[in-house]
Amino acid sequence: MRAGPSQEDIRRHNLGALLRHVHLGGPISRAELTAKMGLNRSTIMALTSDLTAAGLVREELPRETGRAGRPSLVVRPESAKVYVFAFDVGPDRLAVARVGLGGVILDRKECVRDRDRFELDELTGTLSGFARQMRRKTREDTVCVGAAAAVSGGVRKGDGVIKFGPNLMADEVPFGDELARRLGLGLPVSVGNDANLAALAEHSRGVGAAVRDLIFLHGDVGIGGGIIAGGHLLGGHDGYGGEIGHMVVNPGGRACGCGSHGCLEAEVGERALLESAGRVAAGQHGRDAVRTVVAAADRGDIVAQEALSRVGDWLGLGVANLVNIFNPEIVVFGGILRDIYLGSAAQVRTQLALHAMAPQRERLRLRTSALGDAATLVGAAELAFAHVLADPLEVLARVTA
Ligand SMILES: [Zn+2]
Repeated sequence: MRAGPSQEDIRRHNLGALLRHVHLGGPISRAELTAKMGLNRSTIMALTSDLTAAGLVREELPRETGRAGRPSLVVRPESAKVYVFAFDVGPDRLAVARVGLGGVILDRKECVRDRDRFELDELTGTLSGFARQMRRKTREDTVCVGAAAAVSGGVRKGDGVIKFGPNLMADEVPFGDELARRLGLGLPVSVGNDANLAALAEHSRGVGAAVRDLIFLHGDVGIGGGIIAGGHLLGGHDGYGGEIGHMVVNPGGRACGCGSHGCLEAEVGERALLESAGRVAAGQHGRDAVRTVVAAADRGDIVAQEALSRVGDWLGLGVANLVNIFNPEIVVFGGILRDIYLGSAAQVRTQLALHAMAPQRERLRLRTSALGDAATLVGAAELAFAHVLADPLEVLARVTA
């Protein structure tokens, strides 16, 4: 006979669940927690006392209830005291944020990156240098409880190695270990694919917060994706799943960085749009260049309109395939795809009407990212907080050691 969960297991689980409510939903009264978690008042009181003692939350009287009787205390995350470092390594930019419990961006730094080379030493040096500068500005009673990075590439499950990253020029790079060593915080650095993490960010605190089946398409130089099915991110056997950008939509089409032809990324990504719009010769690239084309189309520029329309057709075809297979409730367009979608929504909808099956299409909603360009960074922060939410006792032990 297998033993059931111990009292300690139950407490651990409940502490994590309560902290998750406060972290994702913001300040909440004890009475609301009692109702949401289905636990009795004394259990909620004991759990909030433990989390308060650990310095993870604090309890306050509500401002004005307007009701007679003793008001229920409000539980708030200790956003200014408990934080993580979130890193974002994109083709064109590096970003670091210090993010407080509750998802508050407390500090943020960004710089341009040269997309044509990947120097591990230089890159981790820049990122850890930014983090050190931020740390120097923090008060003494603050505590860093985790670190994680979003990278534009395929990340091996478990060890933070960037297995492939054609748009970063990275290949078999032990990124997580090296960044952890350079940070010197005594904390590991979790690493995830940027589009996967952006999908989780939109799912936990963005446009898909109440949605269980969501597909997120992230556009940067390439196209990435995250598929959330039944509330869980589909990672696949080795963690490389969800590479929506390499779904072939046009066999024999444009060459792709992955070695194949006609991938969604090759037909819809930055290069496809800028070439069709005749902007590559002018040396333009990056998010701003894409946004310039969308703006030109909006003003009536015929060449820009045709380029956007062509890209929108391929995008719609790709989305139709995804909708047929996964039957998502919403499809979210993020990064530069937000702009591309807004400029080509008619084409996307036409392709959906032609190729998506009616039952999957009927209740489908197309949305743009609520978190915008911060989605990848917010996703990295959520990855860094994940172990704290899974086991606040472990953090409690460390903080009070
Ligand atoms: Zn490809």
